[in-house]
Amino acid sequence: MAHRRIEVEADDLEAARASVLHQLGTGEVVLKEQVIADGRPHHVARHAATVAEACEMVRRSIPAGATVVEETCTHEPETRKEMLEAFDETEVSQAIAQRLGADAEVAAVKPLTPGRKGFLGLGRKPGSWEVEVHLPASAELTWKSKAKLAAEVGEKPQERFERYPGSGVCDVCNASISSFEAFKVPVATFYGSRAYKNFLRNHPMLSMMGGNVDAYIANMRAMDHTTHSAVCPSCIHMFE
Ligand SMILES: [Zn+2]
Repeated sequence: MAHRRIEVEADDLEAARASVLHQLGTGEVVLKEQVIADGRPHHVARHAATVAEACEMVRRSIPAGATVVEETCTHEPETRKEMLEAFDETEVSQAIAQRLGADAEVAAVKPLTPGRKGFLGLGRKPGSWEVEVHLPASAELTWKSKAKLAAEVGEKPQERFERYPGSGVCDVCNASISSFEAFKVPVATFYGSRAYKNFLRNHPMLSMMGGNVDAYIANMRAMDHTTHSAVCPSCIHMFE
């Protein structure tokens, strides 16, 4: 059975996944999944000199086919007075940006009560300030598009190795294995695996064996008179 690609669209990802499963034929499984659109709501906000401009910018930021979930919320430009405490004008600007956003523009700063420098910084106290701030016009809305999913489906891939019928321990990690749980890895593949070699290189046992991983593998292989090694499911990735 050849692999095929299914593309689905639904209200959310969960429904899209369900739709993919619904379209599977006998013996088919999902081999790969790609999320093209997540279907979640997105919030956009834009600032501009006028509300009309901000609305236009917001509208242009929405992808084609999206629906507006929450109606446009707009704010006319305004000038307002803020009171705050700070040590100097730099701190005033930072505090305004934090409170009202980076688009807030400090128009005028008036110190009300002076701060105290203190002796060597002891008893230091910020002054209070009245700040005139211009806020630009803004527009914001929430949009959502359908969830889109592409799935590659096909027959379940054959396991590369046969199952090991016996029970015992994994030849890599020594974990106990029950009957038909482990895989039979031919000894040539087993001792030839680069990943297994790296595993041994980092194994604390290796220094006890003289520290030479190639010599150790060669030695083990020479003493191994079996045709296959038993490898548990957690270790099998080293041989695939
Ligand atoms: Zn193992």
